[in-house]
Amino acid sequence: MTQNALGVEFELRLSENPKSEQERTAVLANPGFGNHFTDHTAVVDYTVDSEGKGGWHDARIEPYGPIAMDPAAAVLHYGQEIFEGLKAYRHADGTVWTFRPEANAARFNRSARRLALPELPPEVFIESLRRLVAVDKAWVPTNEGESLYLRPFMIATEAFLGVRPAHEVSYRVIASPAGNYFGDIKPVSIWLSEKYARAGHGGTGEAKCGGNYAASLAAQLEAEEHGCKQVLFLDPTDDYAVEELGGMNIFFLFTDGTLVTPALNGNILHGVTRDSILQLATDRGLTVQERRITIAEWRQAVADGTLAEVFACGTAAVINPIGELKTAEGSLVTPELPEDSVAMSIREQLLGIQTGKVEDLHGWLTQLA
Ligand SMILES: *Cc1c(COP(=O)(O)O)cnc(C)c1O
Repeated sequence: MTQNALGVEFELRLSENPKSEQERTAVLANPGFGNHFTDHTAVVDYTVDSEGKGGWHDARIEPYGPIAMDPAAAVLHYGQEIFEGLKAYRHADGTVWTFRPEANAARFNRSARRLALPELPPEVFIESLRRLVAVDKAWVPTNEGESLYLRPFMIATEAFLGVRPAHEVSYRVIASPAGNYFGDIKPVSIWLSEKYARAGHGGTGEAKCGGNYAASLAAQLEAEEHGCKQVLFLDPTDDYAVEELGGMNIFFLFTDGTLVTPALNGNILHGVTRDSILQLATDRGLTVQERRITIAEWRQAVADGTLAEVFACGTAAVINPIGELKTAEGSLVTPELPEDSVAMSIREQLLGIQTGKVEDLHGWLTQLA
């Protein structure tokens, strides 16, 4: 792989049968989330040579399609896999931008270290997004609040059933047009998982890896039985401290204007949205605390009337208010969403920055196309 002043050379292998304009228009009319994919994918391979020296090579854009893989590939057996998720937004002038990709690149490498995968140079990560969006720019939605969801991931492709870090790895990016995630934003009910944990101390909780999600599915099924789409996980070894949802971080606003989110304790994913909310809330003069918050404190705040708002956050949905925590012992109900909801106001500001309508005072945007 060669690098020049502009970044990294990606060989361009264009699809011979891209989707027709009619098909693409039909998808963009109702994108949903994660159902449809663009015509191309970015790929960079990694190989460890006989002297034990590893290197990235063969950076390319190729047609989207199935991956040919040996049935013994390590990812299929031991789950050596990590991923990222970020969005590209089309601005009013037609240019396409993404939000804090360097934070995703850094987190990708932290995840890589935890899963014993090779680190990818951040400039290659960002260039892969730029090259993919350049060829598939027509897939970036134009409607308000819509985006092109970018999914970088890394998999161990080496055919080998012994247990050790794989010597052959593939980095890829796929892209999927995303509609307005929840459409009309309404407070959601979430389920408290008391039977399952998503992470343990020293585990992979703060790595963005597929295994964490596989481990959360049984809890999600339990949530669905109770009419909830999302699950809240606690740390049973730390006085039932609140950790996060299966794929979103959580915030609490108290009536005295204090905004609290669980401190990063090694089990909690370092959300880019979480971090951005902490910054925007500080800018607004809110008292911001990253600290331990237990389920008992939550229950007490509901009883005292000192809890104002609860919300979840992540790239896909940005911010969504939580109306109720359902538990086996009854519900913790959040007060009705106020007209001047802090969660909704920060949501609007964040989306405004992402879509180019609100000034980007923190230098969070990177142009992709
Ligand atoms: C990706 C993810 C989040 C949210 O992170 P963002 O960077 O804000 O999208 C939260 N929790 C988990 C478990 C995640 O995988």
